[in-house]
Amino acid sequence: MPSPAPRHVIAPPIQAQVPVAGGGSFPVRRIYCVGRNYAEHAREMGHDPDRELPFFFTKPADAIVTGGTDMPYPSMCKDLHHEMELVVALKSGGSDISEADAMGHVWGYAAGLDMTRRDLQAEAKKAGRPWDMAKGFDHSAPIGEMVPAEGVKPGRIELKVNGEVRQSSDVSKLIWSVPETIAYLSKLVRLEAGDLIFTGTPEGVAAVQRGDLLEGMVDGVGAVRVRVM
Ligand code: MN
Repeated sequence: MPSPAPRHVIAPPIQAQVPVAGGGSFPVRRIYCVGRNYAEHAREMGHDPDRELPFFFTKPADAIVTGGTDMPYPSMCKDLHHEMELVVALKSGGSDISEADAMGHVWGYAAGLDMTRRDLQAEAKKAGRPWDMAKGFDHSAPIGEMVPAEGVKPGRIELKVNGEVRQSSDVSKLIWSVPETIAYLSKLVRLEAGDLIFTGTPEGVAAVQRGDLLEGMVDGVGAVRVRVM
């Protein structure tokens, strides 16, 4: 006789999920983010984009903000920055995935924002400390509806704040392409279905204030919209 499953001693945490355009939802396991993946952004942050392998940081799955909900201005911060990004969603995973196989693991794409406490990040960099509290705070990952990847070629990437263009580039300018990023990341950790990868932001990152409306889009993918309150 099989033994009964152990009873949870608290209610299970809510599963983070991203709505899919046309219905359904994508359950999120982990969120990986690529640092400095557009040359002009690396330069604006004071780095030489030609010399670096990709590097990664993470956000908790429940940092996502969906459905156009407002995001609160984070505590302990006086310099909240926007980073508009293409997000890749995996339907399967593995270790040591080859570049040739990488796109076969992609379910879809979304437009997302890697919101950053730039002041805490600057302090962390200076002190050689982790970035977690600069990048992985609550509500730090607003994301739009997800679309299946099949037949989609992400193009222009743009962010407007209060109707004014702040970031404008093209996904083709990624230093590490989506398949290269998946292949490299899968050498560091085993990827799984439900993982999201924020692929990095182009130049033009800047501060936002309470009340600002952020409207981002990736051509061929969709939009993300959030107000900072
Ligand atoms: Mn970023």
